[in-house]
Amino acid sequence: MESITIKAGHGHAFRVDKGKRFRIITPKGQQSADFFAFSTDDIEDCLSPHHTWMPTRSLHPRVGDIFLSRRRNPMVEFIEDGADGLHDLLIAPCDSIRYEQFGEPGHRSCIGNLEEAMATLGCDVPAAPLAVNFFTNTVVEDGFMFNTPKEPVAKPGGYVVLEACMDLICAVSSCPYDLAGPGWAINSPDGPTEIVVELL
Ligand SMILES: [Zn+2]
Repeated sequence: MESITIKAGHGHAFRVDKGKRFRIITPKGQQSADFFAFSTDDIEDCLSPHHTWMPTRSLHPRVGDIFLSRRRNPMVEFIEDGADGLHDLLIAPCDSIRYEQFGEPGHRSCIGNLEEAMATLGCDVPAAPLAVNFFTNTVVEDGFMFNTPKEPVAKPGGYVVLEACMDLICAVSSCPYDLAGPGWAINSPDGPTEIVVELL
């Protein structure tokens, strides 16, 4: 088994062959892991939360769900949930534009992490990729979406196990969001922490 520790607020890209499993872990808990996936055969065919939740009829991924690509191809199966269902399909990954709007130009971002990580494999990133946000708690009530600042949050050692349904290039970002926003608690108030990826 290969284990990779992703530094707090950074990213990592890795290849996974069809049928292989991998685990994503938040060792300290309450750390959003933005998960991206791309078909090895067609980099433009990437993971799409929007195409995924239509057939599953759930805004929160559950064990047994199949994450689809934007060409509606099965990409990843959700095998095991060790984080109590605290996962999000709604929030677009943070990017440099978002932090400029917050008055924090140059702040690290999940899209920046993705681009850095994919470059290590010699891969470009297609336009506007979206992520499944593991260990991210969002609540939808009457059509309004909340990110709750209090419990429940992903516990220390929370994890998910996923299985590749096709040959994949995957990337995980330890979301670097560390700004104080009322009603928002993406990561621990003490700041971002590391994410571990185990190739099983
Ligand atoms: Zn982020």
